[in-house]
Amino acid sequence: MSRYRLLPSPAQEAALRDHCGHARFTWNLAVEQHSHWRPGRTSAPGYLEQCRQLTAARAEHPWLAAGSQMVQQQALRDFAQATAAFFDPENRAGRPSWRKAGRNGGFRVVAVKPGEVRRLSRHTGEVRVPKAGWVRFRWSRPVPPGAKSYRITLDRTGRWHVAFAVIPDPIAGPGNGQTVGIDRGVAVSAALSTGEMLTAPGLSLGRRQRLRRLQRRLARARPGSNRRARVKLAIARLRARETDRRKDWAEKASRDIARRFDLIRVEDLQIRNMTRSAKGTRENPGRNVRQKAGLNREIMRSGWGLLVRRLEDKAPGRVEKINPAFTSQRCSACGYVDGKSRESQAVFRCTACGFACNADVNAARNIAAGHAVTARGGDGVARPVNREPQLLLQSA
Ligand SMILES: [Zn+2]
Repeated sequence: MSRYRLLPSPAQEAALRDHCGHARFTWNLAVEQHSHWRPGRTSAPGYLEQCRQLTAARAEHPWLAAGSQMVQQQALRDFAQATAAFFDPENRAGRPSWRKAGRNGGFRVVAVKPGEVRRLSRHTGEVRVPKAGWVRFRWSRPVPPGAKSYRITLDRTGRWHVAFAVIPDPIAGPGNGQTVGIDRGVAVSAALSTGEMLTAPGLSLGRRQRLRRLQRRLARARPGSNRRARVKLAIARLRARETDRRKDWAEKASRDIARRFDLIRVEDLQIRNMTRSAKGTRENPGRNVRQKAGLNREIMRSGWGLLVRRLEDKAPGRVEKINPAFTSQRCSACGYVDGKSRESQAVFRCTACGFACNADVNAARNIAAGHAVTARGGDGVARPVNREPQLLLQSA
């Protein structure tokens, strides 16, 4: 997904805000209808039925009718897709929920014709938006040809962006038969079985300190005050910057890995569940909530989930998820499993054969080998030796 900074004029901005409002209204209408649905009742209205209701709602509310029907219908289609994802056992996305004004504002435009995105000058392009006309955007990189739809979003800091959706062409494997294992780290974002360490860029030390100062200031600011709003905006800006840098990193790292290796193995961490479970529920309160929340924050910040998603996009069918059990305790040289081999956070030294290695790299090598170790000391899968994937050792 290539995202560009959108530069609407004040009049255009008003039109864009209307679209956001309409899309939110339509989406929330669908959420409300679905919230009445319980198992056993006749099904909640599907997309077509909702479109009929949308037509009725437009007849009733001139405010809605003044907007773009296409934007509103697309919000329903997005909702239908989100609902399908919610019911998909493979995907397990969250339940589509209410959208609040001022948060995650955005709308989608589809059926974009080839002439509706064009370049004006070296650094400027423009895109045709219903009811707003040609809106300029910063041409920060080439717009991928063949964009069929785009999404316009307004972030918490008041910046508009346009993202053109093109399904990225999958990157062909190099055909070298090589497998790489990737271990999620906390100190480094990812360790490869080749010995390489990848680190997602975070905020610089200066910006981190500034963020901490702002957070303290926010805690002292009176609710509803202008000062509070200003501090919140400044915090949101810093966070947005951090997110941008992380996305950029995931893009580059995934492209590089997809080009260099035929098979990519990662831990199956169900990261989403991990990050969700920290707080627990009222019936089943989480344990070590504070510690877990800290770790989860680190994992989110490390960009791990993002990296895996982008790998799956770019190397479809070439990413395998491996059961992570014991990958950090197993010796990647001799296969012996012993918790004591993990000397420290950073060092692995096998208590059986003496093999020593960076602990994350050792885990990555186990992941590359695809070992699912099921019990202490045992190797769960006995594979024929000739099927063992070739490991790349310290080639970088
Ligand atoms: Zn060993």
